[in-house]
Amino acid sequence: MHVIVVGAGIAGLTTAWALTKRGHAVTLVEQGPIPNPLSASGDEHRLMRRAYGTADGYARLITEALDAWDELWADLGQSFYANRGVIAINQFTNDGGAAFCTSLDRGGYAYDSFTPHQAAERWPYLDPATFRAAYYSPDGGALLCQRIGAGLGQWLRTNGATIRDHTTVTAVDEAAARITLSTGETLTADQLVIAAGAWTLKLMPDLAGTLTLCRTAVVYLDPPTHLRTAWANSPAIQNVGGAISGYVLPPIDGTGLKFAAGVNKRLTHDPAAKRTAEPGEGERLRDLFDAPFANVQSYAVTKVVTCAYTFTEDHTFFTRTRGRTLTLSACSGHGYKFGAAVGRRVAEAVCDGNHDQLRRWLRAELPPRALAA
Ligand SMILES: Cc1cc2nc3c(=O)[nH]c(=O)nc-3n(C[C@H](O)[C@H](O)[C@H](O)COP(=O)(O)OP(=O)(O)OC[C@H]3O[C@@H](n4cnc5c(N)ncnc54)[C@H](O)[C@@H]3O)c2cc1C
Repeated sequence: MHVIVVGAGIAGLTTAWALTKRGHAVTLVEQGPIPNPLSASGDEHRLMRRAYGTADGYARLITEALDAWDELWADLGQSFYANRGVIAINQFTNDGGAAFCTSLDRGGYAYDSFTPHQAAERWPYLDPATFRAAYYSPDGGALLCQRIGAGLGQWLRTNGATIRDHTTVTAVDEAAARITLSTGETLTADQLVIAAGAWTLKLMPDLAGTLTLCRTAVVYLDPPTHLRTAWANSPAIQNVGGAISGYVLPPIDGTGLKFAAGVNKRLTHDPAAKRTAEPGEGERLRDLFDAPFANVQSYAVTKVVTCAYTFTEDHTFFTRTRGRTLTLSACSGHGYKFGAAVGRRVAEAVCDGNHDQLRRWLRAELPPRALAA
């Protein structure tokens, strides 16, 4: 079977990987380079974590997600997962730190609890006066996205997939599994998978009621000298507590220290809009973190990265089949960690035609599958 995959973010790359492994002929079309820094998958790192708020289905899927990444690391000959563990901070009742514990409690997953002073002794960038408790789970860390994207691109080239990077798709014929490129050239396959991230609505405008487009930014920081070692050895911080839905990825093997906050997300209608950071945007984002961190204004802004991404109303993942085309949006702001598992599941659905099973898996509605030991 010949499958065209549109989009070389993590969803498209892993779908191409899993289909190639099953012996299918794959053409992967990407409008930019691989990885594309403008894609949601093109940043330096993304969080892996077990605790999942009230979404217990996704918490259970983490086991399958990790198993799929392990299969990918074996193929790439190298792991791009830093299993540093994750911290959550509790500032007040019912904040993200509290939700971290209730999620892990319900699933029966282990974690450690710390008083503010114990936590600040262990992670000296914390200000113990600003929070009530801290928690640590060994189940998580950071996925090194740019290296994963580059590694997958290389693996696909080596294993016979056709890569059309710097090639933009302008139209899709879902019934015929045919795409038109900006050059006017058309390509047809047996099956088509659209994994176009924030650009999905440009190709499928009728999904506007289903997928919402947002723009956000993350800030990279250089901490004060006396805290560099603490950050270099830090777990990821899944939630800083309080009201900002803030999280932090530590510097790992050449990546930067990154602060990001859910409250920074804004609706947009164009994935290309405001992709240059506004003056002062990084500093404003950094300053949201004055709790739980000590003297956060002393951290120098080194880089601000903007991003566009899609959400469904209930923050699950979405798929639709029409004709010979499967359209996929495994994002809602939390899809990267499932990347390799998504690729395996999409490839399975393309092969066996059971798209309803894929849809329910993407919504975390299926019981977990027994994994090989
Ligand atoms: C700021 C931020 C923080 C996040 N943090 C986390 C996290 O910590 N953990 C986590 O698990 N997830 C996280 N996510 C979500 C995660 O990044 C996304 O779920 C995931 O990267 C989406 O991958 P994708 O392949 O669906 O889309 P993308 O990575 O956006 O890829 C789509 C690709 O399609 C290409 N494309 C689009 N249209 C066309 C076209 N017409 N022709 C050719 N190519 C095209 C694009 O160039 C792009 O490369 C975060 C997202 C953001 C934005």
